[in-house]
Amino acid sequence: MQIVKTRGHLIYSANQGVPSHACLGSCQKVWWTDDLPSGPAIMANPACPQCGGLLTMDIPPGHYSVISSDAGTMKKKRCNDH
Ligand SMILES: [Zn+2]
Repeated sequence: MQIVKTRGHLIYSANQGVPSHACLGSCQKVWWTDDLPSGPAIMANPACPQCGGLLTMDIPPGHYSVISSDAGTMKKKRCNDH
């Protein structure tokens, strides 16, 4: 469980690690791989599940900040190949 803050949003996520995508659209949220639909469509043309804005994997510095990260539960390490 971690809490991440973006412009205008507090995001409570059960995902471990840093977000994989950031929304450059109106909501400005960040997303983890598990939050996004998988498949060629999302890879070729990633769109935000919230606002439909453009998602980037190149998250701009300062786009989000980590409020709380429970490092004690990091033992379930996942292997995501990008
Ligand atoms: Zn968005």
